[in-house]
Amino acid sequence: MTMDSRPLFGKVALVGVGLIGSSIAHAMRRGGLAAHIAGYTHRTATLEKARAAGFADTLHDSLAPAVRDADLVVLATPVGTFGPLAKEMSAFLKPGSILSDVGSVKTAVVRDVGPFVPDGVHLIPAHPVAGTEQSGPEAGFAELFDGRWCILTPPPGADIGAVDLLKTFWQRLGSQVEIMDPKHHDLVLAITSHVPHLIAYNIVGTAADLETVTESEVIKFSAGGFRDFTRIAASDPTMWRDVFLNNREAVLEMLGRFNEDLSLLQRAIRWGDGDALFNLFTRTRAIRRSIIDVGQDSPEPNFGRTQKKS
Ligand code: NAP
Repeated sequence: MTMDSRPLFGKVALVGVGLIGSSIAHAMRRGGLAAHIAGYTHRTATLEKARAAGFADTLHDSLAPAVRDADLVVLATPVGTFGPLAKEMSAFLKPGSILSDVGSVKTAVVRDVGPFVPDGVHLIPAHPVAGTEQSGPEAGFAELFDGRWCILTPPPGADIGAVDLLKTFWQRLGSQVEIMDPKHHDLVLAITSHVPHLIAYNIVGTAADLETVTESEVIKFSAGGFRDFTRIAASDPTMWRDVFLNNREAVLEMLGRFNEDLSLLQRAIRWGDGDALFNLFTRTRAIRRSIIDVGQDSPEPNFGRTQKKS
C-alpha cells in the first residue's frame, strides 16, 4: 500500500512551536500534509530558535497573520493560555476551518475555547499521547507520533467531515486515532499520565528535602530506581502546572484511590504480609509486559540504556 502524499490542508497554523508544535511541523513536512506551515510564538528567543530549526514556512509573533486564511489552527501552548488565545484569534478564523489543540486535558478546552469559536468554524479538540521531558522548538522531531495514540474529543453534533479530516491528519502524522468523550479522556489520562507525573514530582521533591540523606548521595545512587522518576520530574513546569489546575476533579479522584492503595501497602510492610506485596508486584509485572506487547515501549532491558564500560 502506498502512502497518500497529497496535502490535506492549504495553510496550517501552529499556535505554539515547542516540543509538540514543532514535532507536528516536522511530521507535516515529512508527510507533505500542508502547502504552508505558519507558526506563532510570543517570545523573541523562541521565535529565533524556531527560525533556526527551519520547520515552518512563516513565523509570527502576533496571532492575526499566523491564523488568517488557515484551514487548520492547532493550539500547542500550555492549556491555561488556550482561552485568552482563542479570544484573541477568534475574529481572524476562516469560516469552514478547523480549530484544534494538543492539550493534555480535554474538558477544559471545550469550557475555555468553546465560547470564542465563531459560527462555521469546527472545534475538534485532540490530544496526542506522545511526548518527552524536553521542551522548546529545538526539541521536536518528525517521528514523535509514530505508533502512538492521538485521542480526538469532538463535541456532540460536531461536523463529521471535519472530524474525519482531523483523524486522517493525525494518522498521516504517524498516529493511531481514538475518539473519546472529554470527561472520560480526563479520567484515563489522570491515571496514565497526570498522577504518575505528580508522584514523580513528589518523590524527587521529597528526596531533595531530606536531611539525613544528602543530595549528593541521592544523585550518586540514583540508578537504584530514583533516576527513572527524575526523567518525568524534569518535564516543563508551566505545562504541568496547567494540567493539574485544569484536571482537578479527575486527578483528585485518582489520587484518592492511589492513597488508599498506598495505605494498604504500608500496612502490608508493617505487618510483614509478604504475600500481599508479592501478589501486587506479580500483577504489575504483567502490565509492563502488556505495554511492550502492544508496542508502546521497548523490551530492551533498562529502557534500552547502553551500559557505560568503566
Ligand atoms: P513547550 O515545548 O514548552 O512549548 C510551549 C509553546 O507555547 C512555546 O511556543 C511557547 O512560546 C508557547 N507559550 C508558552 N506560554 C505562552 C503564553 N502565555 N502565550 C503564548 N504562547 C505561550 O510545550 P509542549 O511540550 O510543546 O506542550 C504544548 C502543549 O502540548 C501543552 O498544552 C501540553 O499540555 C500538550 N502536550 C504536551 C506533551 C508533552 O509531553 N510535552 C504531550 C502531549 C500534549 P514561548 O517560548 O514564546 O513562550
